[in-house]
Amino acid sequence: MSVPFRRIVYPGTFDPVTNGHLDVVARALQLFDEVVLAIAADSSKKPLFSLEERQAMAEHALAGVNGKVRVTIFRGLLIDYVQSEDSRAILRGLRAVSDFEFEFQMALMNRKLNDSIETLFLMPRGAYTYLSSTIIKEIGRLGGDVSAFVPPVVEEALKRKFRSEKP
Ligand code: ADP
Repeated sequence: MSVPFRRIVYPGTFDPVTNGHLDVVARALQLFDEVVLAIAADSSKKPLFSLEERQAMAEHALAGVNGKVRVTIFRGLLIDYVQSEDSRAILRGLRAVSDFEFEFQMALMNRKLNDSIETLFLMPRGAYTYLSSTIIKEIGRLGGDVSAFVPPVVEEALKRKFRSEKP
């Protein structure tokens, strides 16, 4: 009997991708054949990096697991996108209790929209639980060292971005 191919969609803003995101992807690859890291184009957040910049950085950072991870950009409802990818699962990361309420609400709303798709949560390594893209941008903007928290491609991009913003 053949085992079905298992694909999970990891949606987010990824502005920019951090070691926390990469840790969650690595964990998911122990359970799934393919992870689709899906960058939401219709997000209400005002991003620092363009969709294409975010995609290129994530692709670069995930080059080592090429063939098992795809980085895409999606528009519209997540649940529709997951179906179009022929997947039944949504991956989200859980860092602390502070993430829980929002994630809980979203998971239950997505279930209401489509009961056949499940949301799975994975926790990153302890060292990444306090890490967020927002805090990385703040440190980068103020000229701090982010090398322990993001892949080198993101570190370079942050330096370039904030250098070009200075008067
Ligand atoms: P969103 O705007 O949808 O929250 P993010 O790019 O900020 O998009 O995060 C995408 C997902 O990754 C979310 O489920 C978020 O909780 C999770 N995440 C963010 N940072 C980390 C981290 N340091 N460790 C584990 N999961 C994380």
